[in-house]
Amino acid sequence: MDISHIEHIGIAVKNLEESIRFYEDMLGMECYAVEEVEEQKVKTAFFQVGQTKIELLESTDPEGPIGKFLEKKGEGVHHMAFAVKGIEDALAQMDEKGVRLIDRKPRKGAEGLDIAFLHPKSTHGVLMELCENKNKK
Ligand code: ZN
Repeated sequence: MDISHIEHIGIAVKNLEESIRFYEDMLGMECYAVEEVEEQKVKTAFFQVGQTKIELLESTDPEGPIGKFLEKKGEGVHHMAFAVKGIEDALAQMDEKGVRLIDRKPRKGAEGLDIAFLHPKSTHGVLMELCENKNKK
């Protein structure tokens, strides 16, 4: 698999507005985008840190993945996303090697990226996301 960098770190928060204020006022970062991803029942806010982004995730539905995470674990790091080249091949390789996939095929995530998740049971406890930006090549 061809991983170029950590694309983003996803952090589950209870309140997006309050969290954005913390990152801006305390950490001096600038939120450059807020986007709702209906399919995943989240509202996201993005900050750029070098090549990597911080993606804050607020749940829009208690039954959604972030809603359930917050209920179980509270606020905190939710997932880590690697930028890969050839996400379909990467998934096929992981599948072949016996890694449990949450998504067998890439789907559309925030910022128009193709994304797919690997199950934390197969990755030593980290929910991993593979993503590929096919718009910029
Ligand atoms: Zn993500």
